[in-house]
Amino acid sequence: MRAFYDRDASFDGIFFTGVTTTGIFCRPACPAKKAKEEHLVFFPQAKDALAAGFRPCKLCRPMEPHGTPPDWVREVFAILEDEGAGKLTDRQLRSRTPCAGGSSGTMA
Ligand SMILES: [Zn+2]
Repeated sequence: MRAFYDRDASFDGIFFTGVTTTGIFCRPACPAKKAKEEHLVFFPQAKDALAAGFRPCKLCRPMEPHGTPPDWVREVFAILEDEGAGKLTDRQLRSRTPCAGGSSGTMA
């Protein structure tokens, strides 16, 4: 908890924090204003926060663990932001990934 309030960047990627009042989840080092402790939930991985219905913070971008993501990732998250999390179907998601249909075949 202390690492969370100290915005310790060394904890990036170790856990993520969700705020129940906003439905947003963040990296520990997020520059955004911190929520009260009773409104926090912790997730070991960003995908766990997504699965729980939280959306990635636009300030700390918890879905981008290693620098700039590939274009297709940005496109998927742009769609999620426009349409709301959970409305993107598996088929829509696959159609936007390099893995779709095996046409590029460079991701393995
Ligand atoms: Zn954040």
